[in-house]
Amino acid sequence: MANINNNYLNLKESYLFAKISEEKQKYIQNNKNKKLIDLSIGDVTLPLPPSAIEGIKKACQNLSKKDTFTGYPPSSGHNFLKDEIIKNDYLSRNISIDNSEIFIGDSSKSDICNMLDLFESNITVALQDPVYPVYVDSNIIKGNNIVYMTDIYNFLPPKKHIDIIYLCFPNNPTGKVISKELLKKYVDYALENNTLIFFDSAYEAFIQDKNTVHSIYEIENAKKVAIEFRSFSKTAGFTSIRLAYTIVPKDIVINNKVTLNSLFKRLKDTKYNGPSYLSEFAMYNVYKTNNFNELQENINYYLRNTKLLVNFFKSKNITTSSTVNSPYVWIKCKDNMNSWNFFYYMLDKFMILGTPGSGFGKSGEGHFRLTGFGTYEDTKEAIERMSKEL
Ligand code: PLP
Repeated sequence: MANINNNYLNLKESYLFAKISEEKQKYIQNNKNKKLIDLSIGDVTLPLPPSAIEGIKKACQNLSKKDTFTGYPPSSGHNFLKDEIIKNDYLSRNISIDNSEIFIGDSSKSDICNMLDLFESNITVALQDPVYPVYVDSNIIKGNNIVYMTDIYNFLPPKKHIDIIYLCFPNNPTGKVISKELLKKYVDYALENNTLIFFDSAYEAFIQDKNTVHSIYEIENAKKVAIEFRSFSKTAGFTSIRLAYTIVPKDIVINNKVTLNSLFKRLKDTKYNGPSYLSEFAMYNVYKTNNFNELQENINYYLRNTKLLVNFFKSKNITTSSTVNSPYVWIKCKDNMNSWNFFYYMLDKFMILGTPGSGFGKSGEGHFRLTGFGTYEDTKEAIERMSKEL
């Protein structure tokens, strides 16, 4: 039988959110008459915006007629959507992106993982800690060396050579943003040290702060060193229908000979058949009909929940690093409990499901994450339950 990739055996037994889901099911089975409030996984709860639904209907009509029917999409998505992305997400911020630099796909998670196919194993990557666990797992699978940057905000880049730095802003799990000045330091570091940056801005649409960036390409020369991942999962509530895109600038040249863009295109052409036409058309219709207010309404709804939670924890003198620029609230566990003990404490005492901070890395130990993605009613009820005894 073929040998397996032994690196898989180096992964933790289960993916963080799979374990939480198991615990949730166990709790529900054993506590049938209790109402559990789930503020753990970052998944949207509001219906799709009407203009996206309208887009799906139009796409169905197109597919129902011979003249407008379309089959396999290009492996990096259709130009009709790329043109809108350029106009609305980049030109509006004076950033010039070429059509061929955009790769539309079903998910940022898969692009973030699959991008590593382009590099040899055993490279060294620097990750924020705490961090979105997908970066860790995908690098373990690949057999890469991981260096953790625990003091990212004081700009202490690792001393050894780093091949790829992952930056996630607004951050999952802490909800923090990065100042433009600090991000420039990372870009300059990458330019000087021949390092690539993976910039994940899955929560870009939640930014309220003026002194941060929506795109890493707002920083001069970032197009020479940075790849940007953007997802419609949280921006447009597309976690069910799936859609995301990745910018791979043509200016990134590896070993003075090959553009990363051409390699990623080759990868996409070989392994993927492009995103679903229905999802693409849904988002196209939102852009085309200028219905950003619908997206914003949903985002504001989640931000209101986040704000309620942040204010509540502050009022209880519970340390929270979160600003209201993301749907996440990151708190220090009560009485120095460890993350998993606090997880069970919250579950048993308040029937609230959150995410143990240690699941996001060593520095997450002693912390806990709640999301603003619940319903407003559930968020308010969660606060009422906690306010008595937390
Ligand atoms: N990046 C971060 C930081 C995330 O938190 C998530 C999802 O939770 C993703 C990427 C994944 O996005 P997608 O749904 O497009 O795979």
